[in-house]
Amino acid sequence: MMPEDEKEVCEIKDCDNEVVRSISTGNLLKSLPKVRVADERKKRTHICKEHYKQFKKATKEERKLQRMGW
Ligand SMILES: [Zn+2]
Repeated sequence: MMPEDEKEVCEIKDCDNEVVRSISTGNLLKSLPKVRVADERKKRTHICKEHYKQFKKATKEERKLQRMGW
């Protein structure tokens, strides 16, 4: 049996770090097309610090491109 207060783990495949954030699955897949999430049909995906960092970095680069007139 699983205790209810068990720590959640990152929902990205092959990652079992502790969850720090939950973000929109659509945005996640758009920004990090290489990652595979446990369930793509879920509206939100819980991710760890490491993946959140990658996500933030990817979205920042996207915004930079938009500013440059893409
Ligand atoms: Zn992760």
